[in-house]
Amino acid sequence: MKILVLNCGSSSIKYQLFEMPENAVLAKGVVERIGEEQSQATQRSNGETLTMAEQIADHEQAMQAIERMLTHDEKGAISSLNEIDACGHRVVHGGETFTGSVICTDELESVIDAYSELAPLHNPANLTGIRAARKMLGNVPQVACFDTAFHQSIPKVAYLYALPYALYREHKIRRYGFHGTSHRYVAREAATYFDKHKYAVDLITCHLGNGCSMAAIKDGKSVDTSMGLTPLEGLVMGTRTGDLDSAIIFHLVRKGYKPEVLDKIFNKNSGLLGISELSNDVRDLEQKEKAGNESAKLALDIFAYRIKKYIGSYLAVLNGCHAIVFTGGIGENSVAMRRRILSDLGNMGIELDDRKNTRIVGKTGEIQSDKSRIKILVIPTDEEGAIARDTYALTMEDVLV
Ligand code: AMP
Repeated sequence: MKILVLNCGSSSIKYQLFEMPENAVLAKGVVERIGEEQSQATQRSNGETLTMAEQIADHEQAMQAIERMLTHDEKGAISSLNEIDACGHRVVHGGETFTGSVICTDELESVIDAYSELAPLHNPANLTGIRAARKMLGNVPQVACFDTAFHQSIPKVAYLYALPYALYREHKIRRYGFHGTSHRYVAREAATYFDKHKYAVDLITCHLGNGCSMAAIKDGKSVDTSMGLTPLEGLVMGTRTGDLDSAIIFHLVRKGYKPEVLDKIFNKNSGLLGISELSNDVRDLEQKEKAGNESAKLALDIFAYRIKKYIGSYLAVLNGCHAIVFTGGIGENSVAMRRRILSDLGNMGIELDDRKNTRIVGKTGEIQSDKSRIKILVIPTDEEGAIARDTYALTMEDVLV
């Protein structure tokens, strides 16, 4: 069974074609700069790279480009789209409606549309992708996997802000949390790694990529997470502020900043980039720090400090845990960042082994010392693979029913 997984952004579509149930990747690609003068598409399949540069006006044309890439005579993965049995979509906001992945219907599309208000940058693009795929793939079942779904187990005491209750009742202002597919994936992988049932692990999971979030996981279920109503709250990220005093907004508004300008500053010009005034990329900053750059060092220190604070608070939430799990581009690969975060936590039962830490890069493995009470695990995330598995499970159910 072949499953296409799509992750549609406002100007890009990332895709992977899987053979299931093996979860083997047949092709992986991206169409970028949709709507710009010169769009670009790249695909890897069977060790071959295929690139295309042409104007792609919208998501429908992008889907046609993906069809041409997937069915390319020499460098494609299939001979016709008819070979695709199901399609899975990443959808960012599922609000309070979805606790798991679901089959797409017209009704579902209107619910996703309704949540666009809470995720204006993401949900409209996700929906455009679903509509384009439904048009192109005809009756092939489509599945939506929500970033928010795994966090729907978070209790009210953790998801409610200390605002007038009416704002929750009337406008659904609350913590939703994101990166759920990744937190769930690494939590399940960690359970398997420790040979425990998926509901028998207490974990702190750290998804550290360009976007960063952490989750407190009790008995395999998310009980708290660092992102909130939107993916802006919590950790310092590549270009996002994470936590800050909301009164900063009122202060800057009084100084003449418009809400749309502040939105851009907080989401696109802050975080590592804002502090360092150099880059949003940890690799770049680590190189600059080595060359003696103080701003790069400060940005990396602040990034690590925020994570350390969340580890402390989630240890209290969970009353201790089995393991801290690192994933995402930074969590999987940056030996120096893991060292920075985990230094001086010995009294809390967390101790890194420097040799193991250096060896585990981009692969699964434990990196704690023998003395550490809490295990420290690195697990490469696989959000697309998790979406493919959900899609497979739901569409197989559909076939069986
Ligand atoms: P992601 O969004 O998961 O692709 O992660 C992107 C982030 O991972 C960027 O900040 C990269 O600098 C960082 N990253 C990727 N590889 C490495 C590496 N080998 N060392 C340090 N940071 C890395």
